[in-house]
Amino acid sequence: MEFSRRNFIKFFAGGLGGTLLTPLPWKLIDDIAIWTQNWSWVPVPEKGRFSHVNTVCTLCPGACGIQVRKVGSRAVKIEGRSDYPVNHGAVCPLGMAGLQVLYNEGIRWKAPMKRMGPRGSQEWKEISWDEAIDTLAARIKGFRDKGNPEKLAAVDGNQSRSTMALLIKRLLNSIGSPNYLRMPREEDTHSMVNFLMQGFDSPLTFDLENADFILSFGCGLLDGWGSSGRMLNVWRRWATNDRQHKTHIVQVDPRASNTASKADLWLAPSPGTEAALALGMAHVIIKEKLYSKEFIDNHSFGFSDWFDEKGLEHKGFSGIVLG
Ligand code: SF4
Repeated sequence: MEFSRRNFIKFFAGGLGGTLLTPLPWKLIDDIAIWTQNWSWVPVPEKGRFSHVNTVCTLCPGACGIQVRKVGSRAVKIEGRSDYPVNHGAVCPLGMAGLQVLYNEGIRWKAPMKRMGPRGSQEWKEISWDEAIDTLAARIKGFRDKGNPEKLAAVDGNQSRSTMALLIKRLLNSIGSPNYLRMPREEDTHSMVNFLMQGFDSPLTFDLENADFILSFGCGLLDGWGSSGRMLNVWRRWATNDRQHKTHIVQVDPRASNTASKADLWLAPSPGTEAALALGMAHVIIKEKLYSKEFIDNHSFGFSDWFDEKGLEHKGFSGIVLG
């Protein structure tokens, strides 16, 4: 047979096709899969009876109810709890991957670490809990003995009303330092709105499950807002509601977000003009008396002009909007 380019391709294609028809490649794939599973660094779950532990996911403030499946003492899977009122069985990808936080040693410290080099040098040494507590106690005692306990400050990343936040505040109180600092969170904005509208400095909750109409100004309801586990469920509920109970969603968003793409109506104002749009809507609602007078009279303050305790007159919201 002449050794030409055509004959070579025919020979190669025939050989490849023939090999694929034999058990050889499939057996090879199977063997490789088994072989790679036995690498020493690949975690292999223990065999044995399952047990389950009910708990709450703390990877974001959403606090979804989860059930952790265990084999022996090892956690092997995280699932959403269908009986939990926040998420009704749903969990987001971050929550599902929560075991990585437990087992991936590259992203988790398992013991106190002491910095050994200059700041930023990334030189750390693992120390025991006893040594860590003794070191901290000596430093804090030093501040108190010298009469300046305020030199101790705590920067807290927990939710403002969480048990951890309360414990850290109590610790600082007992030491005598007022320097409790908290990282700003989305819930701070909610609290401020609640305080300005209702006089309560506490986070708001939204009855989204039973809402008929949602007007969202840039709120990424389906883009990771709030508890994603809950929002996945809420969205499923909205989507499967019959026409009579349909929830209408209007998304005001300059960006074609997931929420905007799934809303009944997407309004895309130029960035920075959302407030003008809101005031325009308020203008029409007030001018054409489309609001609930009963609600305004009984549950709001400052709609009409009002006087403060010194007798000074202040313009009400309706007067400001109508100009
Ligand atoms: S939304 Fe995801 S990360 Fe947040 S609590 Fe729920 S499962 Fe955990």
